[in-house]
Parts: sequence; C-alpha cells; structure tokens
Amino acid sequence: MNSEKIVYKKTICPLDCPDSCGLVARVAAGKVVSLRGDPDHPYTRGTICRKMSMYPRRLYSENRVLYPMRRVGKKGEGNFQRISWDEALALFAEKITTCVEQFGGDAILPYQYAGNMGVINRNGGYGLYNKLGTSVIKETICSAAAGAGWSMHLGDVPGSPPEVAEDARLIIAWGINVKVSNVHFWRYIAAAKKKGASLVVIDPYRNETAASADLYLQIVPGGDGALALGALKVLVEEEGIDREVLARETEGFAELEQYLEKTPWSAFSRLSGLAVGQIKSFARLLAEHPKTFIRIGIGLSRNSRGGMSVRSILALGAALGLFGGGEGRGILLSSRAFNGDKNLVRFPELAEKKERRVVNMAHLGHALTALTPPVKLFIVYNCNPASVAPDASVVRQGLLRADLFTVVHEQVLTPTAKYADLLLPATTFLENRDVYAAYGHFQLGVVDKVIEPVGEALSNFDLFQKLARELGYDDPPFCQSIDDRIASYLQSVDGLPAGFTLDDGGTVDWVTSTRKRKAVSVFTRWGVRFSFHGAAGAAIPVLLEPDESGNPDLLSRYPLHLITPPHRDLLNSTFGELYLKRPGDVLIHPADAEKYGITDGSRVRLRNFRGATVRVARITEDTAEGLLVAEGIFWQPDGEVGINALTSQKLTDIGEGPTFHESLVLLEPE
Ligand code: SF4
Repeated sequence: MNSEKIVYKKTICPLDCPDSCGLVARVAAGKVVSLRGDPDHPYTRGTICRKMSMYPRRLYSENRVLYPMRRVGKKGEGNFQRISWDEALALFAEKITTCVEQFGGDAILPYQYAGNMGVINRNGGYGLYNKLGTSVIKETICSAAAGAGWSMHLGDVPGSPPEVAEDARLIIAWGINVKVSNVHFWRYIAAAKKKGASLVVIDPYRNETAASADLYLQIVPGGDGALALGALKVLVEEEGIDREVLARETEGFAELEQYLEKTPWSAFSRLSGLAVGQIKSFARLLAEHPKTFIRIGIGLSRNSRGGMSVRSILALGAALGLFGGGEGRGILLSSRAFNGDKNLVRFPELAEKKERRVVNMAHLGHALTALTPPVKLFIVYNCNPASVAPDASVVRQGLLRADLFTVVHEQVLTPTAKYADLLLPATTFLENRDVYAAYGHFQLGVVDKVIEPVGEALSNFDLFQKLARELGYDDPPFCQSIDDRIASYLQSVDGLPAGFTLDDGGTVDWVTSTRKRKAVSVFTRWGVRFSFHGAAGAAIPVLLEPDESGNPDLLSRYPLHLITPPHRDLLNSTFGELYLKRPGDVLIHPADAEKYGITDGSRVRLRNFRGATVRVARITEDTAEGLLVAEGIFWQPDGEVGINALTSQKLTDIGEGPTFHESLVLLEPE
C-alpha cells in the first residue's frame, strides 16, 4: 500500500456508551482501514473497546444496506429489490400523504433512539414529524427511570467528574459492569486501587468487574434500594452521619429517619437479598471512608423498583455528603455535562396539531398490535426494535401486519430491517457530520465525515430534509444545511465556554464543559440543597415490593428470574450482524442446571408466557441460584426472536422506563 495515500482523521464514537471515545480513523484510498483511540482525547486517552476496533468490518459488511430497496418477498424474509432514491422518496412521500389523508397523522408512528448519539442526526426526523402531526414516540427505552430519579432530587445538576474517583479510598460500582460498559472509568479505579483504595461491586451476578472487587455484594435484581436504605439505617443507628453536613446541604431527612427507624431489619434483608450483617458491614465501610465515590449504573433502574433504587442511592450519597465535593468524593450516574435546547433540533413550533397521540417506546408491541385507531405507517431509524424492544414476539407480530407499511432507515440488514416495506440506506458516523456530547464524562466534540458515504447512504438529517421537500414543505428548518443546524444548536448549549467557536474546518475534537465541578460542592456551585423528598409534596424513598419477580402466580409457573445485562461484544444490538451464528450464552447456577437437567455448553430454551428463545448454557457459580443471566442482545437466525421475547412491556415505578431485568422464565433443554 502506498503510504502517501494514508490519512488520519479524528472522529468520535457515536454509540450509546458513556465513554464517547475520541477516535482516529486510518483512511486509505477513501476507505477506513482501521480505528484506534485518539491519544489527545483528555478522557479516553488513546484507547477504545474491542467493539469499536471491529467497526470497519461493520462499515463494509456484506450486511450493509447500500441502496434504497423495496420489499419483494414476505415481511421478515429480507428479500428486496433495488430502487432509485427518486423512487424511494416519491413512494415514502406518497405513503405519508395517503396515511394522513385517510387515517390522520396519529396513524404514523415514528420510532428512533440512540443508535447514533449525534444530536443532529438522532433528532433528524422530529421537525417533519411535528409538521405532519404524527404520533409522538416517548423515548424511554434506556435511562428514563434513572434520569427521573436523579432529576427528582437534583434537577439538571451534573454528576461528579469521573476523574475524582482516582483520589477516592472507596469506590462503589453499583449495578455497572465497568469493564464492559464504562471501560475508561476502570482506569480511575485501577489508579485508586494502586494507591490503596478498595472497590466494592454491587450486582446480581459476579461479572468481570465484580471478579476484581475487594468486596462483592450479590444482591437480588431490584434490591439496590433496600441495600441503600438499609445502609442508611445503619448510619442512623450508629451515628455515622455528619449532622452538620446534613443540616447545611439537605432538607427533609427527619421523615426518612423516622421511616428507617420503624422499618424492621427483616424487610431490608429480604428485599435486598443480603444478610443484615452484610448490610451493616457495607455501611460501616462507607462510614470509615469519607473519600467515597459511587458510580451508579443505569441498568439497575430497569425494573419495577428502579426509579426508587436510584433515589435511595442518591439519598445515601447525600447523607454521606458526597454531593459536597472534595478530593475523592463524588457520585456519578450521568455527567449531564452539556444542556442544549432540543427545540432547536426538534422544532415543536411546526406542529399545528396540539393534541397528539403519545406512545411509550416500551409499549411498541401493544402499539403495533392492539392500539386503536391502528398504526398504519411505521418509520424507524437509529433503532432495531425487533431485537431491542421488550416483548419482542408481539413486536414482530405487529411488524407482520399486512395493513402496516414499515419504513426503515438503517446501516445494516437488522432483524427490524427485514420487516421493512421500504428499506433506506443510512450513513454510519464515519460518513456524516454531527455533534457528540458525552454522558459519562465532560467533553463535547463536533466532527466531520471521515469518508464519503458508502453506496448511496444518506444521513438521517439529509433523508428528512429531502423528504420534507418532496412533500412540498419549505419551512425554515427544512431549508437548513447541517452546518446551519449545528451552529444554531451550539448557541444554545449550556456548558460551552464563553467565546467558543468551531475551528476553520467547522469541527472541534473536544471541548470541556464549564459545568464540570471537580472538588466543588453542588450546593455551592448550583445553589441547591438535596431534598430527601425529591420534589414538593413527593414521598421520601421507601422500600418497594417487586412486581413480576414477586408475583406468586407467575413464580409458580416460571420460577427463574432473568436479567439481560450488556455483553462486551455488542452495544445493545449493534454489531449483531458480526455474530449471526451465536445465540449468546445464559449463565445458570449449578443447582439450577441439575434441577432442570442442563449440561454445560448445551442449547437451552428459555420461555415464559410472552415467548421463547434459545441460548447456550454456561454453568457457573457467578450467578445465584434462581437467577439466569443472558448477556447481550444477539440477533437470532431467521424467524427466531431474541432475548427480548421474554421481557415485559410493563413500566418502571417512575419515569416510564422499561423493566428489562424483571422477567420470570422457565428453563429446559432445547
Ligand atoms: S463503545 Fe464506548 S468504549 Fe467503545 S469506542 Fe465507543 S465510546 Fe469507546
């Protein structure tokens, strides 16, 4: 290869991951040859995960959608015929017009999420959806409950900078497999451990991070709130709380204190799955270590008690004074580093219709099968709901409806794309421009495309601009260039330094948020006091009983609890096309394996009243008796539904998020 033709271009990982890595693409003859970490990036400092190093395979995968295509076979079979963009846009516009005329805008259901975290492309469809008066999709599938829990107590106050953990003496990885889902945070844990800090991991199964912990607490799924409140009860009983800090930084503790005092220990133990002695030891560890940093994972909020769990952990952190800042002291759920005005990318003013149907994205199965009046036109981008939506068997039933027209704008032939009536090629982050704001650290970047689009791919932004014009709309948002939209949005972003400008090429590799508050109290910086009630008139954090996992009718029939945490080779369902022959493993405790006649490495069927799926058994004491752990949303062979065949459309206690980690199932040899 002629080395003179090799160029290196900087970009940012667009995936739904807190690390938002700075990347360097090696480009030869217009093709990306490899991706590596950007050594100049202040947080990710030159390393990336192995998923992203595989991205060039995805970029040029034989599964890549290269041209607009129209379905020619049965829905779900994935047989398509190439058409031109002119034909595709005309067909798309005609379907929209007909649908609005015959059934009204509500019959159009948009569905998009964070397959690409770029602010501009991710929100690219909103302007047109507002103009058309479509149904509104409530984007809840990931962090709705966790975000609601944080917002209730702290509004838009940012989390502690992850770097603070380096000086902690005690780090708690609470419901987060750092080595898989937040790999760069491990650097700070490792540095702190080198200086003598201890790591506590709290999780229902012994994952890679737990294997490196000094103390591993194996709670039951959803038991986080009971552990947090139990620890708080110990701190109250043993006078481990600094009352001066409490008086200065918080309000409303008296009611919580009374509740903790009168609630029996048996409740904390039963609902957390831990012995009272374990809860007490944990609390004493906290009391002994003023320099404590708690990293909270979003996954722990995806059950019927999830919002309350987050609230309870925050209450524990507030009672410990962790929001007060100081060396090695902090609490991080999401960084909330930059706040931009979403109206500048979503354009609600274009909506003439004020009353619109709202559909929670966790209820997609219901929306496509039982909602009245029915959805007639379903438009998907940046998302693979046939794999990632809960109760996925019902979702697929809906996608098979003969009277439903489905448009999918995608990069690769996902399970959802196979159900498309009209399949449109989408750019990857390497082929379009966008703004990326991290949620696990405090950097934002604006990056240009690295290569020209592969095939005839269009960005989400370009697709909806063209479609709007095809429909005859010339409102100002539909006439913006992407540069116009980026410039307009950036002007609204709280967190950008005064006088911030893009460089001559219209990019910035990274800029650090002014909202970063290393070692500064949130109470000083943001002028807020932590209210244990959360909001005026709201209740204090309390113990909650589980929903599905405590239901005796269901437990009698489906006695095993299933959780579905991330797998290191997948990001949600992204990269599934690289593992088409892998159904994924399920971790099974030896006692359960014996009970259900399962051998290690054999194929097993997991089923419940919602559906069934196949996995490969891995028998291990890393999981608890009665708990099955299926990491990763692997795609399945044609016609098979993945792990979300088993998960529920029920919502969390607050925030209306999904309850992915609270499914009861039965296990049997295939
Ligand atoms: S998935 Fe996460 S760790 Fe991997 S490259 Fe992207 S941001 Fe970095």
